[in-house]
Amino acid sequence: MNAIRKNVIQPIIDLWSLIVGLKVTGKYFCQRHVTVHYPRKIIPAELTDTFAGHIELIPSAKDPTIPKCISCMMCATNCPSNCIKVLKQKAPKVSPEQEKEWAEAEARGEKVKRPKAPKNPAKFSYDYSLCSLCGTCIENCPVSSLRFSHDIYIVATDRKELTMDLLARLARQAEAQAGKPADRAPGVLEQAAEAGQEASAKEA
Ligand code: SF4
Ligand code: SF4
Repeated sequence: MNAIRKNVIQPIIDLWSLIVGLKVTGKYFCQRHVTVHYPRKIIPAELTDTFAGHIELIPSAKDPTIPKCISCMMCATNCPSNCIKVLKQKAPKVSPEQEKEWAEAEARGEKVKRPKAPKNPAKFSYDYSLCSLCGTCIENCPVSSLRFSHDIYIVATDRKELTMDLLARLARQAEAQAGKPADRAPGVLEQAAEAGQEASAKEA
């Protein structure tokens, strides 16, 4: 009885197990692939719409290179990971002659309009390596100047590479939209993404 089980029944069980395994493999082998060979290929932008990547600045309606940001510091103050640094702009320098002129005008009772510092920030840096993507900065911005980007292609071999100048990023985005050449060489990731876009276009 044991010999029949060993020489007949067990091989049949093993063969059936193999067939079941091959059936699963064959099913997934024939299905449409859901992954792409990055960076030769990238996925269409509309598929990344729901992805919450690093934060980015939203441009103002008047100038796409300038953010809506008013340098209020709410985002930097409320960030639990301390990954945002905002530097306010300074008021334009005034010559001593101009200052004297204004002082005299004020002494005569005239109203003087002194130049104020622009509200948009001088610097806006962000460390993606520290960000927990909690969204607190986005929720606390009084002028809705921040949002999550849909950039899925961020990788780095050094944490320093994940510190971003969001003002420079906004300027590059504006230039790209206007069809102008960027004012700096694209990084490794951007080159890879561009190569992927070209490969995707050729294969389409
Ligand atoms: S998403 Fe959260 S952790 Fe990231 S920068 Fe904004 S507040 Fe900081
Ligand atoms: S909270 Fe908004 S307006 Fe204030 S500094 Fe941050 S991005 Fe700018």
